[in-house]
Amino acid sequence: TNTVVVSDARDAVSYPCGRRQLQELLLPFVRVAALLRHHLFGGSLPEIQAPRQEFVRLVYYLELVTDGMEWSAWSAARALPAGAAAAARCWARELGAAAARGQLVVRRILRGLHADWAAPALLALPRDYDRLFTYYHERVCLQCGAVPKEASVCLLCGTLVCLKQNCCRQHQVAEAVRHAMECGGGTGIFLVVTSTYIIVIRGRRACLWGSLYLDDYDEEDRDLKRGKPLYLSQDRLELLQAQWLAHRFDHTKRTWVWHRDSL
Ligand SMILES: [Zn+2]
Ligand SMILES: [Zn+2]
Repeated sequence: TNTVVVSDARDAVSYPCGRRQLQELLLPFVRVAALLRHHLFGGSLPEIQAPRQEFVRLVYYLELVTDGMEWSAWSAARALPAGAAAAARCWARELGAAAARGQLVVRRILRGLHADWAAPALLALPRDYDRLFTYYHERVCLQCGAVPKEASVCLLCGTLVCLKQNCCRQHQVAEAVRHAMECGGGTGIFLVVTSTYIIVIRGRRACLWGSLYLDDYDEEDRDLKRGKPLYLSQDRLELLQAQWLAHRFDHTKRTWVWHRDSL
């Protein structure tokens, strides 16, 4: 019964920008509604050949619109039931009033409304080690204000920490260990800028993971002794990230040592 014709040749160029944006913002909700309908009432989900058809197809699937129409006549506003504009205005007024009263929950709702979801990822690293080294090696630690002896970068958030140093030790716990608890819930991944090496901290233990940067012969240059140009290994980065996301460090490394809070 789906009579809408969506041809690929006719583009959505004629769409006013605001409407297209509205459609993009609504899409996640329409998807959830379509999935619910599919699971509750059976029937097959509509086939979607091109991404820009998705919204229209789902709106028809949900029977928010039942009349067939030309692509040019279509707009997201067509999917709104009668009285929707008044309901939206009323909702916005109530939300505005609650926000004016400073209700925390409102702020949380507004902040969560248009969140773009993305899988957790480690820090984006430059291809050339040179660039990373130049960027970090003279940088000061925000905790103690000095340039760290073994500058190490948290690959979860980019914070520079003083590895193994006394300057940033608090309650007998060194900075990287403490940062691993605060930033990664006990798991920390640090790139030691002066050696190119990755140190993984897991609770009370730590291990050397290896380097993400290799030379032209795919070899590591630990401690930068040979001084050859080093480039980011995409394979290793993906491996590290996969192990982190799947909490697999315990099973992939055998060389754990007790760090005694000294890292
Ligand atoms: Zn961090
Ligand atoms: Zn520090």
